[in-house]
Amino acid sequence: MQTTLKAPVTFEGHGLHSGRPARVTVRPAVAEHGIWFKRVDVMVGDNLIPALWDAAERTPLCTRIVNAAGVSVSTIEHLMAALAGTGIHNAMIEIDGPEVPILDGSAAPFVKTFLARGLRTLNAPVRAIEVLKPVMVETGAGWAMLEPGRVPSMAFSIDFEDAAIGTQSKRITLANGSFVRELCDSRTFCRQRDVEAMQAQGLALGGTYENAVVVDGDKVLSPGGLRHADEAVRHKMLDALGDLALAGAPILGHYTGVRAGHSMTNLLLEALFTTEGAFRMVVCDSLTRAELPGAGVVLDEVPAVA
Ligand SMILES: [Zn+2]
Repeated sequence: MQTTLKAPVTFEGHGLHSGRPARVTVRPAVAEHGIWFKRVDVMVGDNLIPALWDAAERTPLCTRIVNAAGVSVSTIEHLMAALAGTGIHNAMIEIDGPEVPILDGSAAPFVKTFLARGLRTLNAPVRAIEVLKPVMVETGAGWAMLEPGRVPSMAFSIDFEDAAIGTQSKRITLANGSFVRELCDSRTFCRQRDVEAMQAQGLALGGTYENAVVVDGDKVLSPGGLRHADEAVRHKMLDALGDLALAGAPILGHYTGVRAGHSMTNLLLEALFTTEGAFRMVVCDSLTRAELPGAGVVLDEVPAVA
């Protein structure tokens, strides 16, 4: 069955790119509502933005959704991953600014708070998107693909010159709480040499050594080092899950990303939804439901992070 939160939860912090403070309240919603953002600081005109792929702008460093009135919310991907990864299908997310707070750079604070507050089961079945034939997108940077597969699963590969990241690959199925155990605490990362360039463009203004893993060659500059030796690829999988959640329903299929990013995932969803016969909507029976990312998540399994 579909779920929502038992009661509202609130997060406060600064946006990674804007550096602006923001307060986010995730509120329970009824069945079939889906995930919506509401810019409570926008008093005039439409302040509602659906968390759907066709509302996303293809921006390189984060995921931004925007409505027809031009009202937007940026850096939604870690919050979206936390919702998808804990199996929350319906929520109204109120935010008083243009960017979701980065918190510790991972999805763990969202996940922990959602699971602590608890989920409520709603009186409507979960519908999922079954991938029927492979769709792929390729750019100069890399490629991404969705293929048929009974169980939602992911594989991701990255390679960076910096030895602190290097070449990393990981493959997981998303059932049995593996998102919570293996992905949710991995933080966003960047290279020291890119920080100045980003800041010159007005980005990463809220970035710190605490809310991002900053590397320089073979050195990890963030205090405390890495949470996982392959934290970078785990974070890319977290981002992909959050971006794929803009499909509006869980995806039954296998995702592969090779040097993929936010824009590429968005192009992939567009390919899925515009390719004849690439998918169908299915009502999940209890067996399928047990394979979805939110099944079997346990608060005690959220990694202990600062
Ligand atoms: Zn990210």
